[in-house]
Amino acid sequence: MAKDDLHPATLAAQALGTIDESTQALVPPVYPSSTYQRAADNSYPTGNVYSRPDNPTYKPVEQLLAKLEGGEDALLFASGMAAAVAVFQTLKPGDHIVAPTVMYWSLRNWLKSFAAQFRIGLDLVDMSEPDAVAAAIQPGTTKLVWLETPANPMWSISDIQAISRLAHEAGARVAVDSTVATPVLTQPLALGADLVMHSATKYLNGHSDLIAGALVTAKTDDHWQALVKQRAQGGAVLGPFEAAMLLRGMRTLHVRVCASSATALLLAEALERHPAVEAVLYPGLASFPDHELARKQMQGGFGGMLSIRVKGGARAAIDAAARLSVWKRATSLGGVESLVEHRASIEGEGTPVPDNLLRLSVGLEAFEDLWEDLDQALGRVG
Ligand SMILES: *Cc1c(COP(=O)(O)O)cnc(C)c1O
Repeated sequence: MAKDDLHPATLAAQALGTIDESTQALVPPVYPSSTYQRAADNSYPTGNVYSRPDNPTYKPVEQLLAKLEGGEDALLFASGMAAAVAVFQTLKPGDHIVAPTVMYWSLRNWLKSFAAQFRIGLDLVDMSEPDAVAAAIQPGTTKLVWLETPANPMWSISDIQAISRLAHEAGARVAVDSTVATPVLTQPLALGADLVMHSATKYLNGHSDLIAGALVTAKTDDHWQALVKQRAQGGAVLGPFEAAMLLRGMRTLHVRVCASSATALLLAEALERHPAVEAVLYPGLASFPDHELARKQMQGGFGGMLSIRVKGGARAAIDAAARLSVWKRATSLGGVESLVEHRASIEGEGTPVPDNLLRLSVGLEAFEDLWEDLDQALGRVG
């Protein structure tokens, strides 16, 4: 194991610096085997039995992520959704959840039908208002408060520390979807959260070439053991090759997140001055309503995600996106290539997202190329 005082960027670049014992390899091996041999005495000497519950390929990835988040343990899942679903599936009929009104759209849709089907209470509130959260929490009945910060796709910030205090007083756990912040910019467990969830598809992997998810826990308590069992039995497991690719992606997490955050801030500032832009939503801008909280809670940058509201409505926004060429029109985020998306089109009916909103995921291209492309695309708007 690595020394405790190394910088997280060092730990990530070296995948904790672990050297494979049997070969001295710097990169850990991939174990495709689905099964493991018993010893003659009928025991399993390494503890590995079958690769649904146990895959040694996961270990270096889970250990690195747990270390970066300051948690005791981590679990990889087949997708971000699978990781989130596992958390909700530890609840029982009669329990109550408080979750954000604006959050990752597919998860909110799934959560609404899950809560109805299993008679679990669900209140969706504005998580940037701790008073609204306090009012929604039912002491003893609320078992989980779900946060997403910055929250997709308006990037509002929730106060993890204040909300964790409220939730814990009422006997509820706090789980944070920290996909957008990444452990580079925010440490939810240090602020009092119990669990962190990631769509590892996004920044952790960072190259738009796999689907994966993860949970990290502050403590390896009974609830965590229930999640370990949930993955082993529910079977939403990641393939070993994807786990190895994810570890490769995570080695460059810090440089990628820092670079895209820096470019996103420059773009946000430039876009704020653009005549075709009605509003820029980015936690790093002084004009952003949750800016002060973002400054307190996020370190080293405000992330690579921003949204713009284009003057002239949905048509103007979609037309501007159509004129982009450096930015690729695609869903997802957190990859090395910059993406643009008209968010209301993918979320569909009932979305709380304004119809003139374009979501921008800033990658690692040169600022000048990204800016010139946006400027020419927006220049012909209205
Ligand atoms: C993509 C995403 C998810 C879902 O993750 P998948 O890996 O696509 O299953 C959840 N939350 C946020 C914030 C996301 O961006």
